Amino acid sequence: MKLIFEKSVPGRGTTMLGKCDVEAVALPAELCRQEAPALPEISETDLSRHYTELCQKVHGVNCGFYPLGSCTMKYNPRIDEEIAALPGFTAVHPLAPKETVEGCYEALDTAKKYLCEVTGMDDMTFQPAAGAHGEFTGVLLIKQYHESRGESHRNKIIVPDSAHGTNPATAAMCGYEIVNIPSAPNGCVDLEALKAVLGNDTAGLMLTNPNTVGIFDENILEITRLVHEAGGQCYYDGANLNAVMGAVRPGDMGFDCIHMNLHKTFATPHGGGGPGAGAVGCKGHLAAFLPSSALMDNDGRLQVRSFAGNFLVVIKALTYVMTLGAEGIKEASANAVLNANYLMRKIQGTFEPAFDRICMHEFVLDLSEFKKRTGVSALDVAKSLIDHGMHPPTMYFPLIVHEALMLEPTETESRETLDWAAEIFRKLYALAETDPEYMHNAPHNAAIARPDEVRAARTPILRYTK
Ligand SMILES: *Cc1c(COP(=O)(O)O)cnc(C)c1O
Repeated sequence: MKLIFEKSVPGRGTTMLGKCDVEAVALPAELCRQEAPALPEISETDLSRHYTELCQKVHGVNCGFYPLGSCTMKYNPRIDEEIAALPGFTAVHPLAPKETVEGCYEALDTAKKYLCEVTGMDDMTFQPAAGAHGEFTGVLLIKQYHESRGESHRNKIIVPDSAHGTNPATAAMCGYEIVNIPSAPNGCVDLEALKAVLGNDTAGLMLTNPNTVGIFDENILEITRLVHEAGGQCYYDGANLNAVMGAVRPGDMGFDCIHMNLHKTFATPHGGGGPGAGAVGCKGHLAAFLPSSALMDNDGRLQVRSFAGNFLVVIKALTYVMTLGAEGIKEASANAVLNANYLMRKIQGTFEPAFDRICMHEFVLDLSEFKKRTGVSALDVAKSLIDHGMHPPTMYFPLIVHEALMLEPTETESRETLDWAAEIFRKLYALAETDPEYMHNAPHNAAIARPDEVRAARTPILRYTK
């Protein structure tokens, strides 16, 4: 497919603006560019076809099954988009006087009330733009809390090895030393290992629960008790609240602070589909340190982003919560767990789960034995799935499982889709025995087969040069 710049023809395009009928006002020369920007010149038809062709080469939740573990690629209801598109929400200015945008404030307050109820927290901010940004904000709350009590000597954050990779990165960004603790053989936090590292230098613990292998830690109350006893604070990575919302609340488990990915659990589009929102909730004793969420007040409190964050994302999430209601939210997570267990058992017997027990919203397959036998890797299987119209699962993550494939089907998939997906996995399992070479070269009918992912991430080419 040609780039839009390569389709450009000088002079082509649409100039439908009438002649200016007011006096032209020139910008100060230092604000003007020296030469015209190199924009493609293309007709509206060709422009429209260009983007349609591009979008047909992409796999999104509306194209087919998308079991990308830890990313919760659930269906994004159209009603959320419709409500967020109301002019009362889209045609406001962040600097508008408060009395002219009372409705927006009320919507934010309502979202806060409901999401505090879901998490068991007392207060919340919507400023952070993503999950990792929410973690950063949350850990800064903990840091400010310790400082306010004259306990800045607490300089260590404990992170279990089953945590999401962003957790240690966040603690490091906040200036903490990271203490890694290993998991017990059952995939949960090793209590003895935790006890051994707790002390009066402990600032807190960051826990992903359910963790990255899809397991709810059975000692959760004991874990938070031990951390508090040592004077630390408990941070809950709630990006994957999809397994537990409406059933249990992190606040009741003893956590002081949490972030949620509204763009995962609360059904707002993400990935290539739109911006995120990492809502951060906390207990009362941390509330004084929350970023000021008032649109205009900059009263010297922590600011992690301008104004109220990605406001329309919060509106979409609020619409989702109000559409489902208390019962619907509980049912959504119950179905997410049911779907994950159903798919895991349907695939089992071929590819084996890393932990043979009931999972939460996702599960991890361990392909290390399979690879030893057939030479076919987790990457080869993931690439082969593309040829079948399925988005690959998360690969080689979590790091504690080798040759990992991590699947999260979500609650918005039907039984027929899950049966279809299990059948594809079984087919590929058999194919690896008979034609491993074919799988080493997969995908065979995608726009791009095996790009150099490291180079694409490290040295991306983002500008067109002739
Ligand atoms: C997705 C995810 C994050 C990071 O969220 P982003 O919005 O991608 O920054 C953090 N923790 C867990 C457990 C996640 O699944």
